[in-house]
Amino acid sequence: MARAFIGFGGNIGDTRQLITDAIICLAQRAELHILAKSCFYQSAPVEATGGDYINAVIEIETELSPYGLLHVCQAIEQEFGRERPYANAPRTLDLDILSFEGVTQNETELMLPHPKIIERSFVLLPLLEIAPDFFLPNLGELKAYLPKVAHQRIEKLPCRNCNCGEKDVYSQTAH
Ligand code: AMP
Repeated sequence: MARAFIGFGGNIGDTRQLITDAIICLAQRAELHILAKSCFYQSAPVEATGGDYINAVIEIETELSPYGLLHVCQAIEQEFGRERPYANAPRTLDLDILSFEGVTQNETELMLPHPKIIERSFVLLPLLEIAPDFFLPNLGELKAYLPKVAHQRIEKLPCRNCNCGEKDVYSQTAH
């Protein structure tokens, strides 16, 4: 079994519901098991157009290969009506594989770890919420990159089923 992290984002429609439904779709697949889910975050678009995004990250374990997982993620994007009219267009639902066990590869179809992982607060904050000590061999501890994305507007949304209202994990989060 491999451990992997998947990032979700979207800014068209009821993204919170779409992400919830997409996670249910993933959970119904026998080849993977969901270990953790972050709260939802609302973030300003980065290198993208449109309104604010809603983001979340999950941790899974899976029997799938990296490409097998990518194809599952792409099938879910299609199912939820993702269109690509132009680069970085507003989107209903985007799934990115952030990391897959110890796999490092630089193929256009699947880059691992995801090359933008340390550049985006909307990835770092939810990822570190569920894996506070996460590190990558060539990058070290990811929490060290938080100051570099502190200027990117992001707000942690109140959750119904966790204690995130009780403790501020990172200074950028707002309750
Ligand atoms: P996007 O428009 O952000 O959804 O990018 C989708 C494209 O990125 C697809 O062609 C994927 O094959 C490619 N891609 C490269 N690396 C990854 C990754 N780690 N996770 C998801 N898609 C990836």
